[in-house]
Amino acid sequence: MTLNITDEHGRRVDYLRVSVTDRCNLKCEYCRPPSSGQPPSSGQPLSSGQPPAPCHMVKFKDLLRLVQVFASLGVRKFRVTGGEPLVRKGVLSFIRQVKQTPGVEQVALTTNGVFLADMAAPLREAGVGVINISLDSLRPERYAAITGGDLFHQARAGIDAAMGAGFEAVKINMVVMRGVNDDEVADFARLTMSNKLQVRFIEYMPATPSTWSREKFMTMDQVMERVGALGALAPENKARWGGPAKIYKLEGAMGEVGFISPVTTHFCAACNRLRLTAGGSLLTCLFSTDRLELEPMLTNGASDEQLAQAIASHARIKPAVRDMETYSRDMDKSMIKVGG
Ligand code: SAM
Repeated sequence: MTLNITDEHGRRVDYLRVSVTDRCNLKCEYCRPPSSGQPPSSGQPLSSGQPPAPCHMVKFKDLLRLVQVFASLGVRKFRVTGGEPLVRKGVLSFIRQVKQTPGVEQVALTTNGVFLADMAAPLREAGVGVINISLDSLRPERYAAITGGDLFHQARAGIDAAMGAGFEAVKINMVVMRGVNDDEVADFARLTMSNKLQVRFIEYMPATPSTWSREKFMTMDQVMERVGALGALAPENKARWGGPAKIYKLEGAMGEVGFISPVTTHFCAACNRLRLTAGGSLLTCLFSTDRLELEPMLTNGASDEQLAQAIASHARIKPAVRDMETYSRDMDKSMIKVGG
């Protein structure tokens, strides 16, 4: 009998986002609360000379065991994220082993790209198929203001390296914030004219409620209007793994533009994903308030069957629709802690 994960609303779950760390070399305001006490931005991997941050991370060997259990439950796509996943020592070897796990079809990565100039080729070789790179400005000074790190040129070099490394897809994620970077929407869309990139515009979510502001929020309809002013937009077929982006191509473009609107609309009916935080909590939704603590089960010697049963049963309570309001009342929540 093939096991799989199906929730109470009949949705099949075959995608897990795995946060491997809640540390990051950048400090984007919308992602981490100002008081998070994380080490300052340096552009260096955090393992080289900086004091360890007080966060707990599940060991890679335990994460791999969980990946095997998820794969035995029919999960086929794994996204490695964080924090910044590339600051964690051993992440390449972890990714290689995830890709080699029976049942795993796709390994994707979300990164800020700062380390990609050196790591793009090894990541591709380790088995990353699709890479998403976050970039919120094409202007070095503004990039520094948004991220707290003067690392724009490193991120750009990382994107170039990724485009040359043979990934199935290179995607750029831009969180659009009114008065912060919304005047760059057209510049980002123009990147797709002569580059085989997918530029994805994302609505600014209250994922870190203590720093979110309504004034900076801009709807995807407004963003799409600006992109549409550049030329005709032709809808593209949905990607193999589905996903929340509405994908289009500007006339004559080599690449694509994607629009993601988690705030003004939602894609919950087609949601196929779960999230694992760096500390080993299983979440059924980015905005969920439920969690299943998996690490104590590992420490207490749970069998694979017990883990699989606990995971499948927790996943059943995946909410029909995301509850952003309840989530947003908790000022301690942050994207960096949940995992991107
Ligand atoms: N460090 C990696 C990176 O920068 O891509 C991975 C983690 S980051 C949390 C993952 C993604 O979440 C990024 O694309 C980031 O822009 C997005 N993100 C974080 N906070 C967000 C928010 N409040 N609204 C929309 N997107 C957000």
